[in-house]
Amino acid sequence: MYWLLRAPEGTAAEIAAALASLSEGVVYCSICCDLGGVDPCPICAHPNRDDSTVLVVEQPQDIAAFERSGEYRGRYHVLHGAISPLDGIGADQLKVRELLERLRDGTVTEVILATDPDVEGDATALYIGRLLAGIGGVKVTRLAHGISVGTEIEYADAMSLARALENRRLFG
Ligand SMILES: [Zn+2]
Repeated sequence: MYWLLRAPEGTAAEIAAALASLSEGVVYCSICCDLGGVDPCPICAHPNRDDSTVLVVEQPQDIAAFERSGEYRGRYHVLHGAISPLDGIGADQLKVRELLERLRDGTVTEVILATDPDVEGDATALYIGRLLAGIGGVKVTRLAHGISVGTEIEYADAMSLARALENRRLFG
């Protein structure tokens, strides 16, 4: 931030104003829970995406990673975190209820669990997988281990993500 001290007068104020308007303009998509400027978000509003598939990710940034891979044409759901007892984060703090709500009308036939391949991500996938096992007509899959363990989805390269998606397997 030291560069800011030497920046032309007014720069800091401009940045502060830009940041303030940024957080004001941020809304949750009421369908997928992604954060953006509009509700519904452009992906949920897109007429040509596959409604039968929902890919569940931990963070909004993960959507960008999958979009970069160019392989996925379905919808998304953002949990906003992963189950982590050590950090006091349980399923209640995540957007799990919103996901269940989306499965009620029977349009969705596959839920792809794309939480990070780490302890928290696996625990979260397991939890959601068990919840969804009771819902008839919904296939639950998990990304293949194409991306190395410990790599966050957000930083996975497009090729690996595409491969992990293609080789996803039945879960549970
Ligand atoms: Zn959305």
